[in-house]
Amino acid sequence: MQNLAALKEKLNLPKRIVITTHVKPDADALGSSLGLAGYLLKRGHQVCVITPTDYPEFLNWMDGNEDVMIFEGNEEKAQYLVENADLVFCLDFSSLSRIGALGELVRQSEAEKVLIDHHLNPETFAQYVLWSTEAAATAELVFDLIEMLDDVEKITKGMAEALYAGLMTDTGNFKLPATTPHVHNIVAALMELGADVSKVSHCVYDDNSLDRMKMLGFALSERLEVIEGSTVAFFYLTLEDKKRFNYQTGDSEGLVNYGLAVKGVNVSAIFIEEEKNVKISFRSFGDIPVNEISRKYFNGGGHKNAAGGASFDDLQTTINKFKDLVQNQIKELNYEA
Ligand code: 5GP
Ligand code: MN
Repeated sequence: MQNLAALKEKLNLPKRIVITTHVKPDADALGSSLGLAGYLLKRGHQVCVITPTDYPEFLNWMDGNEDVMIFEGNEEKAQYLVENADLVFCLDFSSLSRIGALGELVRQSEAEKVLIDHHLNPETFAQYVLWSTEAAATAELVFDLIEMLDDVEKITKGMAEALYAGLMTDTGNFKLPATTPHVHNIVAALMELGADVSKVSHCVYDDNSLDRMKMLGFALSERLEVIEGSTVAFFYLTLEDKKRFNYQTGDSEGLVNYGLAVKGVNVSAIFIEEEKNVKISFRSFGDIPVNEISRKYFNGGGHKNAAGGASFDDLQTTINKFKDLVQNQIKELNYEA
């Protein structure tokens, strides 16, 4: 880590600390934040986790969840905390634009910033940086940091479970290529620290509403298409579809992966109609850089095999654009999977 010794020194005296993460936090964003918060609290710091937006209910079980401040609706309190913090930890995002209006507050705050992240192209705003695109999850890096500080034994069962949730989900249940021996070693350590991995999996994956399950069935039977002459699958959900299944934040999470489960498919996309734009997720298998596709054509970015973006055209126009790109063989799709 860049400046580890200086950070270690800083953490030896009680500090006012804000931890923040990206909009619509996922299990890695929230799990790494709450795992780190638990650790810093144990070290005697004042800590507040501020998320830019709300997050799905299936993450509410984590230790410390009840103390998370959601920026939307608490703007003044959050601003006060960010302005008066000694340190702001930025977890699981690489650019301040990923945290909405909170980003500017963080940028302007006199607090020193610590970036802990595994996304590409980090913005240079932090004095302390623990960043690696090789890391499977930000939770992995938080564990590494605690280990570098010689404090693994301070990790409680609750912290271990929050970190495990980040590793489990960001590795696609330990299936994605980022699943290294180091990841499994951390998992072993977290289990030895008491993490109940079966419980975590149950909390994260078996918490579906009946509506969500029905939406999955509907999406698979009515909204999944493989683009003719290609190895690319896509789904879409209209505002009306979402209404029909009483769509809640997070209900479409993971849906895009089902496209990759089709034999021969190596790119999957999902287009989700929102009030003002279309939210897009991409997944790929092998060497196809969907982050490049997203960055070039859909205002987004992300990792090589998992990216996202947005379109400000209407849903049909966006889908047509994508089909056209696929059928005209954009360069990025010419990689052998
Ligand atoms: P998801 O498909 O789960 O929403 O996002 C997958 C990954 O793509 C995220 O971890 C993030 O790195 C990236 N990503 C998603 N949406 C956006 C976006 O709008 N802009 C950028 N730059 N990256 C995104
Ligand atoms: Mn992550």
